[in-house]
Amino acid sequence: MQTRCASQSTQFCETCLQRHPRRLDARIDLIAERYARSTTPWVVGYSGGKDSSAVLKLVYEALLRVPSRPSRVYVAYCDTGVEIPIIREQVRMTFARLRAEARSDGVPITIKIAEPKIEDRYFVKVIGRGYPPPTNKFRWCTDRLRIHPIKRLLSSRRAQGATVVVGTRFGESPERDRVLEEHAQGTDRFCFRQSGNTAVTLFAPIVDFEVTDVWKVLMTVQRPNAVDGRRVLKIYRDAGAECPVVRDEHGTPCGAGRFGCWTCTVVRKDQAVTSLVAQGYSEMRPLLLFRDWLAQVRDQRSARCGIRRNGTVGLGPLTIGTRMEALRRLQAAERDSGMSLISGEEIVAIRRLWDNDRTSGRYFE
Ligand code: SF4
Repeated sequence: MQTRCASQSTQFCETCLQRHPRRLDARIDLIAERYARSTTPWVVGYSGGKDSSAVLKLVYEALLRVPSRPSRVYVAYCDTGVEIPIIREQVRMTFARLRAEARSDGVPITIKIAEPKIEDRYFVKVIGRGYPPPTNKFRWCTDRLRIHPIKRLLSSRRAQGATVVVGTRFGESPERDRVLEEHAQGTDRFCFRQSGNTAVTLFAPIVDFEVTDVWKVLMTVQRPNAVDGRRVLKIYRDAGAECPVVRDEHGTPCGAGRFGCWTCTVVRKDQAVTSLVAQGYSEMRPLLLFRDWLAQVRDQRSARCGIRRNGTVGLGPLTIGTRMEALRRLQAAERDSGMSLISGEEIVAIRRLWDNDRTSGRYFE
């Protein structure tokens, strides 16, 4: 039983780093053993957060230890289209370096980026279709933006029977612990069933790690160099936030204390973006202002149609006028921040939805 480091979270002390040096080694061996026995592909879920970065390091080290590597390892990332831009940029840079490093090591890694369908993208739903920005009661976003894209990727022919390696840990929240216990697979303390998909085995090699163990992996396991533990630490310190991976659609919002979507209105205040702005990432300020405007306009009666899409009277979609104003503000935020926030494909889809609503005449105002 290990003692919790008094310094907690993104703080860690030298004692933590030196504690149980052989434990990490044994865990890498365990991963290597399981990979060597496996005849199906592996899919490593990666978000750029600390837990998935630590898992990727352990898996990579394990791959370097096995004599032959017949099964392909996919590193899967979900790009919702509204990821915090500096985190997304960091992930893209990591992938570019990881591809080159894996190629030169002869490690069979392929990177897969999952994206929501065009009709499910955040801005197509809110600005195009007039969905109110999500709330805790009407959280329409998590499955569309984060869960379905990954499920689609896992149901592809290549991922059939895959072992999905995740950075889930006990102790993150009572709800997460309950789900983990419910999905435990027999006596194997590292394997879990995935709800609704019996073809997939979840392998959680750091399920028993404390947060200090995770930082220890990031600071002491060198390979792949592409996953830079110190860079991950800096982002955590600047954003004062936790990892955004969503593993349970009924769980707490991924924006709560995590790197969620920069548009997230499920949380009262966006901690990560607010903290980044305070730390000097001033280019993020226009994004924060836009997000705050979305949260405000959602609750204004005058911004919503008086009829719902099912024909009943009540707070309906955002009016076309509000949606147009949202697009204007979003494009202004794009100009002011110098960041690309919406794609041309999304704008086309939005205009098509406006035309449909104009033709029907019901959701104009
Ligand atoms: S971060 Fe917020 S907006 Fe994004 S999927 Fe999670 S709950 Fe929804």
